[in-house]
Amino acid sequence: MNLLTLAEKSMLTAAQAAAIWGYPTRLEKMAIDENRSLWATYTPDYQAGPPLRQSITADLAIIGGGFTGVSTAYHFSRRYPEKKVVLLEAKSLANGASGRNGGMMLNWVYGVEHPTPETIKGIYEATSGAIAMILDIIREHQLAVSYRQDGCLEVKTTPESAEAAHAETEMLNQLGIPVQYLDTAALRGKIELDNVYGAMFDPSEGQLNGAQFIRALRPVLVEQGVEIYEQTPVLKVKEGAEVVLTTPQGEVKAKAIVLATNGYTGKLGYFRKAIFPLHSHVFATAPLSAEQQAALGWHSAAAYADDVNRISYSSRTPEGHIVFGGGSNASYDYRFNNGTAYPNRIDRAVQAMQQTMAGYLPKSQQVPIAHRWTGTLAISFRRNCSVGVMGENRNVYYGLGYSGHGVVMANLAGKVITDIYSGDDEQWRGLPFYQASFAPIPLEPFRWMGYQLFTRLTGRSPRLG
Ligand SMILES: Cc1cc2nc3c(=O)[nH]c(=O)nc-3n(C[C@H](O)[C@H](O)[C@H](O)COP(=O)(O)OP(=O)(O)OC[C@H]3O[C@@H](n4cnc5c(N)ncnc54)[C@H](O)[C@@H]3O)c2cc1C
Repeated sequence: MNLLTLAEKSMLTAAQAAAIWGYPTRLEKMAIDENRSLWATYTPDYQAGPPLRQSITADLAIIGGGFTGVSTAYHFSRRYPEKKVVLLEAKSLANGASGRNGGMMLNWVYGVEHPTPETIKGIYEATSGAIAMILDIIREHQLAVSYRQDGCLEVKTTPESAEAAHAETEMLNQLGIPVQYLDTAALRGKIELDNVYGAMFDPSEGQLNGAQFIRALRPVLVEQGVEIYEQTPVLKVKEGAEVVLTTPQGEVKAKAIVLATNGYTGKLGYFRKAIFPLHSHVFATAPLSAEQQAALGWHSAAAYADDVNRISYSSRTPEGHIVFGGGSNASYDYRFNNGTAYPNRIDRAVQAMQQTMAGYLPKSQQVPIAHRWTGTLAISFRRNCSVGVMGENRNVYYGLGYSGHGVVMANLAGKVITDIYSGDDEQWRGLPFYQASFAPIPLEPFRWMGYQLFTRLTGRSPRLG
């Protein structure tokens, strides 16, 4: 379906549509120009703290201020109030994927091959427990964070995949996992999507404003004794019984470190063969009123994702923004040599994504875009993630490779890392993310060529979900 057909179908000019759905405001236009995510616009007063300007020592030094780094700082400093924890962030907390994602708070991890029923149950318990933990943290510290937990949908785009989802739901129910199968009639009560034949609904899932969550946690971490240095990129890691981290104006000597740099980790010389950074684009509408959401066809669901190779997903914030990502090759971008500077092909990406969205919600084509941004996420060859410890001195901890499921898993990573450090990690052993190995991806230039050939010849994207 092309743009013209959609415009004709809606019988509205762009100006008429904007008058009905609202024009982007001046502030929203600024956010678009600055590649600022919708989530970050809800932290307008946040200022990055000062950089490290001296040589210091630490028991644990965490590199990266996203969900992985901040959750590690949170759990570790609670478990060990007497130990010195330092967090070093290249730019500002939540600058990476954690503050730039699609907001979907999802169960499961990807890349699990031939799981046993115990593994399936174990993963669900781990991730649904992590969702509960995120919400407990928000409540315990009374953080001003937008979230919703009214369930996400995995929608099925063929009769065959809908039938398979129905059977899968029954299997999961037998394991005590409370997902529901919705046929098209039941689905329409939550959201009216075209071209969909059924859906799996998980009532425990939802949506989170990651930038708000991380930035609201900053004072809690400081209160727990964590030293946070923003605008402090780690330039070099020298391993040893004491690990030395070099930064532009200072140095940290730490007994242990955490690589919490996800898509950027290769730049530090780690996981270069395992992880490649993929840029991904997202857009969002201005807040829509309940009537506007209903006119669009969106009723009670927090979010949906589809089952197509070029996965697309959409979520709705408590403020009424509709967020949309994926759905086209143009919405993903891999740059030569693991480059992570934001590519500027966002116009093409957003146009393609709007068409995909309109295939599900035809009226969405009329709704002006008020926010759009790009984020970098880490993909592994098998789409699996890993949380563990490595190095000759067993003092280099890490958590990465979450693909499109890091909102929950990266928040769990900090707990898992703290448990591994404590030797209290029984409950995680045997789960697919615990100390998982990664399949090697060819190095450059073969990696870049392989990505281009695969996406251009097959028209497919590396699936993120
Ligand atoms: C567009 C997009 C949409 C997504 N949608 C979803 C979704 O809907 N649901 C879901 O579950 N997951 C989603 N994800 C994935 C999820 O956001 C990530 O898996 C998760 O945020 C990873 O968290 P992290 O802390 O490991 O990494 P990041 O959030 O990327 O944090 C890494 C941090 O390290 C810093 N850093 C990098 N290098 C250095 C250095 N040398 N020194 C110091 N600091 C450094 C960076 O500035 C950054 O702040 C999405 C990701 C993207 C990009």
